[in-house]
Amino acid sequence: MLSRLSIRIRLTAWYALSLVILLGGLAVASYFVMRASIYRAVDVDLRFRIASVEDELSESQPIASIEALPEVISRWDTLDVLFQILDENGRMVYQSPVLAEHRVKPIPPPSSDQTIVYEESGTLGWPARMAAQRSKLAGQTIIIEVAQPLRFHYASLREFAASLLILIPLLVVIAGLGGYWLSGKALSPVHQIVEEARAIDSSRLSQRLTVPAARDELRSLSETLNSMLDRIEVSVTRIKQFTADASHELRGPATLIQTAAEYSLRRERSREELTEAMENILRESQRTSQLIDNLLLLARADSGEIVKLGSVRLDAAVRETAERLKQFAGSKNIRITGNFDGSTLYVTSDPTLLQRMLFILIENAVKYTPENGTVTIYLRADGDEVIIDVADTGIGIAPEDLPLIFDRFWRADKVRSREMGGTGLGLSIAKWIVEKSGGTIRVESVVGHGSTFEVRLPRSQGTAEIAPANAYGPRGSSFNSSGKFQPQVRCFL
Ligand code: ADP
Repeated sequence: MLSRLSIRIRLTAWYALSLVILLGGLAVASYFVMRASIYRAVDVDLRFRIASVEDELSESQPIASIEALPEVISRWDTLDVLFQILDENGRMVYQSPVLAEHRVKPIPPPSSDQTIVYEESGTLGWPARMAAQRSKLAGQTIIIEVAQPLRFHYASLREFAASLLILIPLLVVIAGLGGYWLSGKALSPVHQIVEEARAIDSSRLSQRLTVPAARDELRSLSETLNSMLDRIEVSVTRIKQFTADASHELRGPATLIQTAAEYSLRRERSREELTEAMENILRESQRTSQLIDNLLLLARADSGEIVKLGSVRLDAAVRETAERLKQFAGSKNIRITGNFDGSTLYVTSDPTLLQRMLFILIENAVKYTPENGTVTIYLRADGDEVIIDVADTGIGIAPEDLPLIFDRFWRADKVRSREMGGTGLGLSIAKWIVEKSGGTIRVESVVGHGSTFEVRLPRSQGTAEIAPANAYGPRGSSFNSSGKFQPQVRCFL
């Protein structure tokens, strides 16, 4: 219930509640301390009164028997003490007229001769505190009891309690109002943050909250919100850029398909001309579907889709992928060779995605290597990791381009990439797959000599089989999983 109210009201309520508890405790404690100190003073007084009764008795000696006491006491005129005397058996021998008037009952006598007992007695309308002590008179034991009326003491205690009952709520109300005002002041920067944050929307994402000068919680809140805005701004900018790039990339093939169709329909065309236009349309639609497939995969990556990781046999996956690309490599007279020791290596990854990553790296190596070159795949275990190196003797990548090659849609040479059927998304997809598998990817390259992409993946002790046949996406190709390749120290794939 309280949690639904504003922080300001909650703070004030907690403050007032703790004050009530604190001041209430203090009031109860001071009431009892005051009461105890009154009793202490009264008890001291009662001791003196017993002593004066004893003095009077000893001065009035000799007294023949305790029966003669009332007679003796009636002659005392200076003693201003309320007292009563009882015999050993508790029978009343003498009682001051005031005590008799209020029918004050005797209190239980002390057990030992020396001690004094104190007890509250008297009646409802005439409260009193009494003290009793044993004494000797005419060879007999008597009990002297003295009384002190407590009416005035009780009245002052009541007055004290009443003033506390008025003062404490008054204090709590005043302090509560002060607390409400103070918490309002303390929270006013929060309202400023709220106002500023409300003003930030997607069109004003570069705006930031004012950071208070004081090194307090509100400063850290503003800084945290600002750094969150930084991250959101980067993501939104990236999404905008990605959407713009994707539309641009899709517009290209769409325009080409439209142009080819319009060209074919404009007038009567020969069979050769129509075949050529159809081939263009087919090539561009294949490119478009590959682009869409890559975009969908990246959208999955961006939405944080969970990748199903399992144990994948890496050496077999590399052979299958190389086999898949053999024809393409053969068309450029490029040799794909494998350099691995034949041991079975397992890694933790998604089988389909792992093959897609291998395909991207080996296909790129073939794509960007001139005719008669070589592509070599090295595979080795290194402690808890497995290292895959895809090395080519291709065109290489300029040093200034190296930090950019994993960016989406980045291509060193757009025309060449397009001619090769590239979309500029391959390496960014490969990097995402490697990172999702808990690995790293890096590249070394020398322009004109070739490039080496190194992938490190965590090794696993699995027994699973490699990826299913649809690992290559829209190209619809299949691969042979029967383990056609025999492991050799150096093999031609
Ligand atoms: P693309 O579809 O254009 O191949 P990628 O993301 O796979 O897109 O690669 C991005 C760019 O990186 C390529 O356009 C090319 O310029 C460069 N690149 C990738 N692999 C190699 C390689 N093995 N040798 C030289 N350049 C490469």
